[in-house]
Amino acid sequence: MIPFVDLKAQYDGIKEEIDKAISDVISKTAFVGGPFLESFEKSFASFCGVKNCVGVGNGTDALYIALRALGIGPGDEVITVANSFIATSEAITMTGARVVFVDINPRTYNIDVTKIEEKVTPRTKAIIPVHLYGQPADVDPIIAIAKKHGLKIVEDAAQGHGGLYKGRRIGSIGDLACFSFYPGKNLGAYGDGGAVVTNDDALADKVRMIANHGRMEKYNHKLEGVNSRLDGLQAAILDVKLRHLPAWTDGRRRNAALYNDYLAGSGVVTPVEIPDVTAVYHLYVVRVPDRRREALQEHLKQSGIATGIHYPIALPNLMAYEYLKHTEADFPEASKASYEIVSLPMFAELKEDQIAFIAEKIREFFER
Ligand SMILES: *Cc1c(COP(=O)(O)O)cnc(C)c1O
Repeated sequence: MIPFVDLKAQYDGIKEEIDKAISDVISKTAFVGGPFLESFEKSFASFCGVKNCVGVGNGTDALYIALRALGIGPGDEVITVANSFIATSEAITMTGARVVFVDINPRTYNIDVTKIEEKVTPRTKAIIPVHLYGQPADVDPIIAIAKKHGLKIVEDAAQGHGGLYKGRRIGSIGDLACFSFYPGKNLGAYGDGGAVVTNDDALADKVRMIANHGRMEKYNHKLEGVNSRLDGLQAAILDVKLRHLPAWTDGRRRNAALYNDYLAGSGVVTPVEIPDVTAVYHLYVVRVPDRRREALQEHLKQSGIATGIHYPIALPNLMAYEYLKHTEADFPEASKASYEIVSLPMFAELKEDQIAFIAEKIREFFER
């Protein structure tokens, strides 16, 4: 059996450090707030190359709180990409703003930067580029559009921890950036967690206030916020894991390069990196032409190889967005990709012989 991800293999490699961190939190009863959270916020801000990090309850909250900190709400529009996890667009709707989708670039699966400007209206307040699958979105053209129209940029970096875009760290590019520490993410907690990072001190203060019931002092609230916390246990675990993240990212990149070699000419389309970026391969996604994806998945399953689809229905085509009255023709590339993409097993501990075996089974499928 080759699993899709193997969180147990990762834990086995760092068990002593993790177990010690957990018992430290418990013996200090630093469950909410406290030194472990402060320490992780400092380490993660420095890892991202930004001044501020605010730990929150999860990645979805991070996006919602970041948008609220920018003052986004009813009557506003926020532009994002048609291929992402629903959390991205959900967070926009949660503020009361309207979601405006843009199609994807068919080679990178990220937002098509040539199709953003046509979606800008006087109500547009922000753009959320998603660094999907750990592939940095092409943010320079997005920054140019944002400057021209006075828009804010919130990075959805939930799949992009540690990635680089033209020498800049993912998370340090937008006005704010949002991370998820869901267990399966590149930097994953042992439960839910998230963070908002920013270089802007005033925005960081707003984020901290909104995440903490809009509070200035204990019982004096400037506005209504939410209760969204990264707890002490998760922070301590993440602080340990952050030290290993660069090595794990190297492992993912090595495995992606091996996949690219073993799968060359096999019948699937392997992923690309745009020039001058370092992708972190949260997922390794290939494209299977001619609607043969399900058959390939079944063939791999028979050989004990787990696969996934990220995502089987493009966001505008979901029932949840029926009210926007889109058709698949409005987002032709995202819709087409949703029928052809398949995610292969990807984690740092994956071995070359496993990758070779997966590639062999894929070749076998196309040669039948
Ligand atoms: C995981 C994810 C989120 C949401 O994070 P949670 O911690 O699960 O709330 C948002 N956007 C993207 C692209 C994600 O992959």
